[in-house]
Amino acid sequence: MIVDSILRKIFGSKHERDIKAIQPTVHRINALESSLSSLSDQQLVVKTDEFKKRLVAGETLEDLLYEAFAVVREAAKRVLKMRHFDVQLMGGAVLHQGKIAEMKTGEGKTLMATMPVYLNSLQGKGVHVITVNDYLARRDAEWMGKVYRFLGLSVGVIQNDMAEEERRAAYNCDVTYGTNNEFGFDYLRDNMKFEIQDRVQRGHYYGIVDEVDSILIDEARTPLIISGPVESSQQKTYMTMRPLAVEIRDQQTKLLSQYLREAIQVIESNGEATEEALEKLLLVKRGDPKNRQYLDLLVKHRDLKKKIDQVEGQLMTNKQLSEFDNQLYCFIDEKAHNVEISEKGRDFLARGKMEDYIIPNPEDPNYSEERYIEVTERLHTIQQLVKAYWLYEKDVHYVINENKVMIVDEFTGRLMPGRRWGDGLHEAVEAKERVKIERENQTLATVTFQNYFRMYKKLAGMTGTADTEAMEFSKIYSLEVVVVPPNKPMIRIDYSDVVYRTEPEKFKAVVEEIQELNKKGQPVLVGTISIGKSEGLSALLKKSGVKHVVLNAKYHEKEAEIVAQAGRLGAVTIATNMAGRGTDIVLGGNVEFLARERLRKKNVDPASVSQEQWRNTLHEIEEEFQQERAAVIASGGLHILGTERHESRRIDNQLRGRSGRQGDGGTSRFYLSLEDDLMRIFASEKVSSIMQRLGMEEGVPIESRLISKRIESAQKQVEGHNFTIRKHLLEYDDVMNQQRKTIYGLREKFLREENQKEYLLGVSEDVIVGFLEAYCAENVDPEEWNGEEFRRAVAQQFGLDLLHENISVKELNRQELEAAIVAKTQEKYESKEENIGTESMRFHERVILLNVLDGHWKDHLLAMDHLKEGIGLRGYGQRDPLVEYKKESFATFEQMMNSIEEESLRYLYLLQPMEEKERVREMERRQQKQEMVLGSSQEESEVRKPVIRGPKIGRNERCPCGSGKKYKKCCALTPA
Ligand code: ADP
Ligand code: MG
Repeated sequence: MIVDSILRKIFGSKHERDIKAIQPTVHRINALESSLSSLSDQQLVVKTDEFKKRLVAGETLEDLLYEAFAVVREAAKRVLKMRHFDVQLMGGAVLHQGKIAEMKTGEGKTLMATMPVYLNSLQGKGVHVITVNDYLARRDAEWMGKVYRFLGLSVGVIQNDMAEEERRAAYNCDVTYGTNNEFGFDYLRDNMKFEIQDRVQRGHYYGIVDEVDSILIDEARTPLIISGPVESSQQKTYMTMRPLAVEIRDQQTKLLSQYLREAIQVIESNGEATEEALEKLLLVKRGDPKNRQYLDLLVKHRDLKKKIDQVEGQLMTNKQLSEFDNQLYCFIDEKAHNVEISEKGRDFLARGKMEDYIIPNPEDPNYSEERYIEVTERLHTIQQLVKAYWLYEKDVHYVINENKVMIVDEFTGRLMPGRRWGDGLHEAVEAKERVKIERENQTLATVTFQNYFRMYKKLAGMTGTADTEAMEFSKIYSLEVVVVPPNKPMIRIDYSDVVYRTEPEKFKAVVEEIQELNKKGQPVLVGTISIGKSEGLSALLKKSGVKHVVLNAKYHEKEAEIVAQAGRLGAVTIATNMAGRGTDIVLGGNVEFLARERLRKKNVDPASVSQEQWRNTLHEIEEEFQQERAAVIASGGLHILGTERHESRRIDNQLRGRSGRQGDGGTSRFYLSLEDDLMRIFASEKVSSIMQRLGMEEGVPIESRLISKRIESAQKQVEGHNFTIRKHLLEYDDVMNQQRKTIYGLREKFLREENQKEYLLGVSEDVIVGFLEAYCAENVDPEEWNGEEFRRAVAQQFGLDLLHENISVKELNRQELEAAIVAKTQEKYESKEENIGTESMRFHERVILLNVLDGHWKDHLLAMDHLKEGIGLRGYGQRDPLVEYKKESFATFEQMMNSIEEESLRYLYLLQPMEEKERVREMERRQQKQEMVLGSSQEESEVRKPVIRGPKIGRNERCPCGSGKKYKKCCALTPA
């Protein structure tokens, strides 16, 4: 510790050293300014071509950095009337190096990014800028596009409702703006296409992720999934099992209220709790931690909580906790957001048929795979149902809208129509709410954001809050965080937290505080953790007659308009923590938004006014708002009022960061209560003991640095916990990632290469050798060879009858046999090709390979889903489930690769020539099908996981040639 601080005195902190290292770069860029400012626009523009030529001639991007950055600054001065601050040059250099630049909210990250974007686009490979929503992508592409276009670059933006051609055009631009969702889905869709030219993306060269913590950390756990309805009868029986979950809940509630009653009786007659009463209360805590009666009891008897925790700790130390839990039907782990059904619970469910709930052991001689799947599915279904009942609250985690279960985003409180929880949880909640269970979907293609973004050759990021997660960025993405100082010193005052005993007391105080601030005109931005809480507070404010706006708008643009005005005199804005991220809160009001509003009021479309009219309106408003701005500053600037601490410090910092922009004054304070989730689950024991010491009364808060520190350490603990979960997920996902890379690589080869003949003939040989190994192995006496089976295998695989071909297994040795059959298969291939024509053969090779590959990959994804479901449930003894998962998935994958080869060959050798007309027809149908696939993403704007059908023609579907037969029984694939 001491050494650390001494070293820091001598060498400066890491952040200081980082910044010092970039200083010379800043000087060099600044030194170029005067020579550039004397150039005409025309002279400035030709710089772009000059740079490109110099790159071709052998200079590097690093050589060009100083001049390129200086040119961008000059261009921005001319077209945006903004001159990059020195700190923006620093941040720009950090982004160019493929690192994360932490720069506070409102400091100008949008402008900062123009420099590395311009520099890297000179390579002509396309630069991607990733934003958190469509609105910001559009805004930034338009706003910064002025600079790029001025310098001769093309700029594109991807929006959710865009068609293929528009997307392709946008990706072909030098710079492309879009959201993480769109980039990810386009990647997946591209890998389902049948022609290389149908793809929209052209690689992943350099990407800058804005609000990088939100995308790479908060969203890291959400995989992007393209799915289609399940083909088979895999529909799980959520509705039929629902009553069981209800029974378990009722049983448990009955049991716990009995325990509570008994414990209360003891406490009331004895004056304090006995050991037995404490155990009963602990059972309530483990079985229903949010039980209202229980929480009230804790408020009434302040020492109880500590004692209960002690009993729990004791059991934990003695490793008796799981035995203890077995008195319950199920127990709830709030930290892991999970519910476990205990043995007692399973007993209850099984009603004597215990084998229905015990997973068969693969080593058992009577083991059957079907039985295994049946039992794991049953366990999985009931597990998800119980979870839905205990942990998923209506109007907090989801709402019912138009008879559908709609997810509420935990960070923004926004509804997420069309998005579904995975792993059957959504179906379970649908069953609980008794709405129609949408057909369960099967994954056709999937990638996590983690893995999507790791594909970029160079990745960079920017955000106001990255430093707390620096380790995760480094470990998972190899991204270093560099903290860029603000342009002007930050003067916001962050007051320490105040803590109340109960939530109602807290909210009462919050309302009073808002009233107080509102009286003197100081704008207040109130952060809540859910829409439910926002609405509750809104109702209280209404009663007190405080004018306010609640931000839970459905559209980002609307949201931005509201947030933009949160700095006006007397404004009270209630928002969930992350809402309106990316929009600037200017004290006194955002002039641009106001100008647009004024024009609209005059029935003028702000997008189509002349430059002059726009400038005049801006000017007009600026004058009017000088006074308001001064008044807001006098009142103390924007006050941030947090109503609960988030699990992660980063989200709290994000909220605080909305105030104190570019050297503005401002203040912030969090209001907490002992009943807040974070306090209850993670920090309560230590905090309550501090509070005990300080003394605590109803309605009187405690304010102490010590408590803030405690809370922070609780947050650190949760952050670490969440990091572990994400890392764990990544480890599982790595397996899939490798496999996806292999499959997509193979697919790309089939698409790009005209000719697969060599490849297929090579595979034929491998397959023949494989058969020989199996039936006519070298180390086995030829007398023992299984000639019949071998003949059958060759016939089925290649349509070759060895008898008919005069190849006698008995008369040839192993080498001769191999040579003879290889020659025959080649001959057959050649004659087939001659028969149907070379072009047609090439076409069939491709179509068959792609179809077979896609079909198997889809089945493999389903198998992997099952494997993952099972792995969590299966007891592995001492074995590591991850290792087992890797082993099994590797075996499945290998099997799949073999099947793909064998099946493709079979189709090709047994191929019946298809008429040319039919071939053209099939091409057309394929085209139509493709368009259908891509069209479906448009219908569902705002949809996170568009459900689209894969382009593959199912083997059991009607053949597209119109014969009326099943595809597998028709067209190219009819056996000869
Ligand atoms: P961030 O993304 O860092 O939160 P923004 O990029 O939204 O911030 O910028 C915030 C505000 O700062 C914008 O209104 C922008 O016009 C202004 N701004 C940024 N850089 C400059 C600059 N160099 N000179 C003047 N204003 C700037
Ligand atoms: Mg921003």
